[in-house]
Amino acid sequence: MSTKICACCGQTFQPDPRVKNHTFCSAPDCQKERCKKWRQMIVSDNANIPIDIGLVGFLPLARFAYACQ
Ligand SMILES: [Zn+2]
Repeated sequence: MSTKICACCGQTFQPDPRVKNHTFCSAPDCQKERCKKWRQMIVSDNANIPIDIGLVGFLPLARFAYACQ
């Protein structure tokens, strides 16, 4: 099992294997930050899907972002 470093708080965490590009831990503040980034991503330009996510990673990530409503 590999761990990742949270892009928000810098703590290490266990990424969910179902989530691609899992860069935030499960702390409430970090989840809020994740949602903010996600919204900026889709609001700024719908067609501008980041290259490192790509179409393959887009749908799982969209499902993950669902909790942001
Ligand atoms: Zn965090």
